[in-house]
Amino acid sequence: MATLLPAGRAAQCALAQEDPEVYAAILHEERRLLDKVQLIASENYVSQAVLEATGSVLTQKYAEGLPGRRYYQGCEWIDRVERLAIDRARRLFGADHANVQPHSGSQANQAVYFAALQPGDTAPASADWYRRGDTAPASADWYRRGDTVLAMDLAEGGHLTHGSPVNLSGRLYRFVHYGVDRATGRLDYEAIARLARAHRPKLIVAGATAYPRVIDFAAFRRIADEVEALLMVDMAHIAGLVAGGAHPSPVPHADFVSSSTHKTLRGPRGGMILCREGWARALDRAVFPGTQGGPLEHVIAAKAVAFAEALRPDFALYARAIVANARALAEALLAEGLNLVSGGTDNHLILVDLGPDGPTGAAVAAALDEAGIVCNKNAVPGDTRPPNQTSGIRLGTPAVTTLGYGPREMATLGRLIGAVVRAPGDAAVLARVRADVRRLTTAVGERALA
Ligand SMILES: *Cc1c(COP(=O)(O)O)cnc(C)c1O
Repeated sequence: MATLLPAGRAAQCALAQEDPEVYAAILHEERRLLDKVQLIASENYVSQAVLEATGSVLTQKYAEGLPGRRYYQGCEWIDRVERLAIDRARRLFGADHANVQPHSGSQANQAVYFAALQPGDTAPASADWYRRGDTAPASADWYRRGDTVLAMDLAEGGHLTHGSPVNLSGRLYRFVHYGVDRATGRLDYEAIARLARAHRPKLIVAGATAYPRVIDFAAFRRIADEVEALLMVDMAHIAGLVAGGAHPSPVPHADFVSSSTHKTLRGPRGGMILCREGWARALDRAVFPGTQGGPLEHVIAAKAVAFAEALRPDFALYARAIVANARALAEALLAEGLNLVSGGTDNHLILVDLGPDGPTGAAVAAALDEAGIVCNKNAVPGDTRPPNQTSGIRLGTPAVTTLGYGPREMATLGRLIGAVVRAPGDAAVLARVRADVRRLTTAVGERALA
């Protein structure tokens, strides 16, 4: 269990002396983290041990290359740390090979693409045909198309790095996108298979940023095999659930598994990639020198610590408690009359569909924040509003579960969220909810410190 204070005061004394402005901002952030209820699905509270590794002297060392094969002297202890991280990641997920150097989940994805795909020439983003994601006009013979990739649409729950036109991935490769079934809010594997047959992608990407249901990785493998595509699973959101046995593992099915390490997995901000042995060398080279320079060894040390924490039996209990809490929160929201994409959840997150005529996601997220509940606005499948407004909010339980919240607190939160969604502009309602949230955070804080 994480401690409540993100960093020891003593360790911050030098910072307080040297830079009171940064120090004060960090103190305020500490307070905010405990004073409001954190329901952002991609965030968590890490352990004191993870924080200490992240704040260590390892931040100073250059270590380009891999353990035992570095371009710099003085890496004997760095090598020890990175080997621990690699070995633990492989053990945790049962993978042939692990690269723990990606600076983030996005960097991990770029490295997989760089290892497995042929990029095209980048087209100017302003070109009309390009923005539509259309095929290039025949006259554009200067433009060599990159390999084709089939992935989930950002607007349907995918990630920016899954081929959005504003992301490097969408500029370098030819992405074709699948979404969810409008009626059920779920992936339609037959529809995905039809797209795969029509477009013959070199790579299929499974994984999402806002999908509340179990993903059937075996089904994705069957589709990939049928069209002779590679399969990459981006498990950024669910890595902790996979580690704890609360979501089926993609590792037996995928050629590559990319992830961030700071979401349900409860490690430092960062990324990692698992792959089959045959891809190990190409993948390592795609990370360095392909897409990165010196690795962040202080973060890699913290990843090693987090992997060890996730290997302990109590992490499985944590993963199951995240899902149980999400279910309880979904039940409470349904009882408030709210609409949930797919009608509920199997994992750590919930997408509330506010409807095209309801308040915007932006308005509800801002009102909830004022009332002490922190979440994010999120597009819902088929959303007609722009991405900075949206018709939905996304809620997740990894952080509150770390603090020890249980189904009883979820029922309370569901009631409070319902009140805010019904009256996001009513200052009296927000003040009443804020007072109730304070009682909740105080009770949890006292229990944790007891
Ligand atoms: C969060 C996320 C990422 C990227 O993570 P960063 O560390 O923010 O770059 C990639 N893919 C998916 C599906 C995600 O949810």
